[in-house]
Amino acid sequence: MTRLPLPPSLYADTAVAPVATPLLDVDKSVSVAIVGGGYTGLSTALHLAEQGVEALVLEAQEPGWGASGNNGGHTNPRLKHDPDKIEADFGTELGRRMIAFAYGTTNFTHDLIRRYQIPCEARQNGTLRAAYNESSAAAIEKTAQQCIRRGMPVTYLNREQLRDMTGTDRYIGAMLDARGGDLHPLSYARGLARAAMSAGAKVHGETPALSLRRDGTRWRIETPRAVVHADKVLLATNGFTDDLWPALRRTIVPVFSSIAATAPLSDAVARSIMPTRPVLYESGHITVYYRIDQQNRLLMGGRGPMRWIGSPHDVAYLMRYAERLWPQLKGVAWTHGWNSRLAITADHYPHVHEPAENILISLGCNGRGVALATAMGAQLARRLIGGAKAEIDMPITGIKPIPMHAFWPVGVTTAVMAGRVRDRLGI
Ligand SMILES: Cc1cc2nc3c(=O)[nH]c(=O)nc-3n(C[C@H](O)[C@H](O)[C@H](O)COP(=O)(O)OP(=O)(O)OC[C@H]3O[C@@H](n4cnc5c(N)ncnc54)[C@H](O)[C@@H]3O)c2cc1C
Repeated sequence: MTRLPLPPSLYADTAVAPVATPLLDVDKSVSVAIVGGGYTGLSTALHLAEQGVEALVLEAQEPGWGASGNNGGHTNPRLKHDPDKIEADFGTELGRRMIAFAYGTTNFTHDLIRRYQIPCEARQNGTLRAAYNESSAAAIEKTAQQCIRRGMPVTYLNREQLRDMTGTDRYIGAMLDARGGDLHPLSYARGLARAAMSAGAKVHGETPALSLRRDGTRWRIETPRAVVHADKVLLATNGFTDDLWPALRRTIVPVFSSIAATAPLSDAVARSIMPTRPVLYESGHITVYYRIDQQNRLLMGGRGPMRWIGSPHDVAYLMRYAERLWPQLKGVAWTHGWNSRLAITADHYPHVHEPAENILISLGCNGRGVALATAMGAQLARRLIGGAKAEIDMPITGIKPIPMHAFWPVGVTTAVMAGRVRDRLGI
């Protein structure tokens, strides 16, 4: 089997070198086998290995090949839903634990990066969630109030403050969460793989799990050249989930998100856009997100075509939108355009399943997985070690396929087009 190349991203051209992860060609017997070498799988392997538990990661391509090595690089705290809704949905006890966990994921991630000295250009300059219409601004202000009531380091910013922070008068309100930040996603994924391996985990690239079945009291995973026997298995395949576990593929919508990046901007232009270098995501009909990296490149992300792309011209609307926000960008070179797939769930919560004894599944970070999937790794490791007695700060739910799942490409394309039109019309 030949390894698929990484998407043609800025990150592929600039990341730290990968650690060697040879394909698995001898049979293995381990405590925990993990399918998927993104942040979820690698962080779980690291946290298992830290506690002396034998963990083996099977990755079809290479660590970070999926969303983890190709995302926007924003470390954003929170789940999609507001704290009050989380408590209403899951009750005060679990709801409060979920809120503390979710809003703590960025500090967790940046602490982990410091602890393992992972070279990935990590910064914590804050996350802005910004609105350009009245209804979104009102919703964001409500979220900010709920966070402030819970003692979180969050502020609500008005139009004038936002003009100073973003160099555009597009935004009328935003929430700034001081715990957010950014990093180089592929360097981070490779650093996580290195940390997990130095702690004792095994990571194999070019090793897809082809089938998974019970074998007495254990589980048997077939790969092209070898068989793995494991006491426990974690499936961490997110937007690339296949048919390894029945119906799992139908519990998520594997949408593409795309990014276009400029060449390094002059200091003056970069400063005129975001002088203090927070990250920003818009609260619109379709989400646009952006940041300026440590080399002064602007990285603009958003929904693009529902197919693989290879050039910034495939997402020309992101370039046009950037020039609309900051006319000083006209004439700037856009060097890269790429995309990858993330998993959206119907209820917009991340999903953890335990569909059979000693099988754990975690997927659906809904565009928030950089910090969330990293922190989930510690929770999943706890559950894998402690079993049902080890409560985690996320609900464990049944596998529920999304009705009419086969029609998601039509639904997503329609929603993106409608969102773009509404955003253009300003409604
Ligand atoms: C373009 C883009 C921008 C994003 N921006 C942000 C952002 O700014 N901030 C944020 O927090 N989140 C962002 N996200 C989401 C975030 O990247 C994901 O939530 C996170 O990386 C998910 O990690 P994961 O390990 O669960 O999945 P992935 O990183 O996708 O890893 C899954 C892995 O499983 C492997 N796999 C699948 N099937 C098999 C099999 N049968 N055998 C072996 N291996 C298999 C795949 O090869 C893949 O490497 C973005 C996502 C995308 C696509």
